[in-house]
Amino acid sequence: MKELYIDFDGVILDTIPHLYQAADEAGVERSDEKFYETFDFKTILKDENILNDSINCIQKIIESKKFNVSILTHINSLQEGIDKVEYLRRFFKDITIILVPKKISKTKMIHTRGSILIDDYAHNLREWESEGGISVRFSQKRNGKGFLVVNKLDQIIEMF
Ligand SMILES: [Mg+2]
Repeated sequence: MKELYIDFDGVILDTIPHLYQAADEAGVERSDEKFYETFDFKTILKDENILNDSINCIQKIIESKKFNVSILTHINSLQEGIDKVEYLRRFFKDITIILVPKKISKTKMIHTRGSILIDDYAHNLREWESEGGISVRFSQKRNGKGFLVVNKLDQIIEMF
């Protein structure tokens, strides 16, 4: 079985537009990390924000028995991490969830060599590849930016 790590924001849930909207409404820069440290993630961790049937797709990926699946997500605050774990546990009782402090690269938390990362953020994918990992971009428009690309998570099953 291959190790497969799946990003959360912009892959499982469509949180980013809501975060930007909240920053705009608060009158702060979208890059303002302090703002996200106090943002209440519970307000956007909602089923209506599920991206392209991601939850069911992850279930299918697990059932394929081709991958050992973990969720790998950056967090701006401990509370954000707690809220994400509680949200994911509604669907997955027994999946590994790894919370990565925003200031640390995902590659610093994981054995990357030969492991697959599905992420929407090209910067994360570049770092992953440079550490010997296999990068797959999640893009609704199938814009891979030079990486393998999926716009629905279960497409990964036929890819490896
Ligand atoms: Mg992301």
